[in-house]
Amino acid sequence: MSQTLSGKEQARFDQARSIIRGRLVRIGAILATITGGGVYLANKSASPPELVAPNSGNTPVMYSEKNIQAVNVLIQKVATGMTNLDNATRVERTKLGDFAKEHLEGPFDIIKMNVENPNINAPKFKKESLRRGESGYHTQNLYYFGYAEAELDDYAAAFSPSEKIMMLSSKLDPNNLLDMLVVYHELSHAVQDGNTRQKIRSREDMGKYIAFFKMDPGGKGRIVIIDEGSAYAREIEMLNILLKGTLKESITAGKGVDISSVQKALNSRPEQNGTIQMLIAMANTYYPEGLTDGNLPKKFLDHIAKLYRSRGYEVYIPVTSGGLRIYR
Ligand SMILES: [Zn+2]
Repeated sequence: MSQTLSGKEQARFDQARSIIRGRLVRIGAILATITGGGVYLANKSASPPELVAPNSGNTPVMYSEKNIQAVNVLIQKVATGMTNLDNATRVERTKLGDFAKEHLEGPFDIIKMNVENPNINAPKFKKESLRRGESGYHTQNLYYFGYAEAELDDYAAAFSPSEKIMMLSSKLDPNNLLDMLVVYHELSHAVQDGNTRQKIRSREDMGKYIAFFKMDPGGKGRIVIIDEGSAYAREIEMLNILLKGTLKESITAGKGVDISSVQKALNSRPEQNGTIQMLIAMANTYYPEGLTDGNLPKKFLDHIAKLYRSRGYEVYIPVTSGGLRIYR
């Protein structure tokens, strides 16, 4: 397999392979949610001081006073919107099997935890740390992440594991449940990031983990297919709940799903219909199996991998002996 990689790809592959501990943990974190009852977040305690999470400090975060205030408004919108999503789905979530139930709680858990984060406003923190002459920052709780504002064309939010920052669109609407499903998906990545960092035992391994997700200027983004699949699985399960089970029913019966009725149910903007179409196409490969036994359908992972490759991403999968390989 390695002979098919170019020199640059090989270097990346080698780098990825060396993240042995971090990768194994990722599988472990997912396995823990399959087997464990109780809270999704394995360990909510602060990490040892020597293993605090370094931030690369290169985030293109604007830090004018205006920007700091704008982020405060967005943080409030996320809180309101996630409460709306929680209220719209809570009763149905409790009726799910143990695995699905646990799996769906993580994003709600982490958002409550992150409220305590003193550095939740990334531009504010960046301004203060620059004043102190620091180039990056450390966080004492590995689940904490900051928020910043960004112009995101089609998306309400995006999470950067290397920066531990969630970018939010100024268009984010707490009453638009599709926006909130996107935030919920990104919060899944924040949970995965926290679970992985929680298990990393040296600064060197932490550096490798961060380097893996850090995009070079003009370089390719990277995803780990298990993590991406797991985040989309959650998003689809939540969408199915919001549609009162009709998503799964229609797909299982081989019937089409009416996009305009989904748009109405989610109160989404017409320009988000492409996102709805993307989720329905994914759900077509996810159901009827779903994630109830803790495994994601291969055709579902293949579908996501193809989509991300077409967007220019490199797609990886953990290997049981440790490290990562390119997912084919
Ligand atoms: Zn994702």
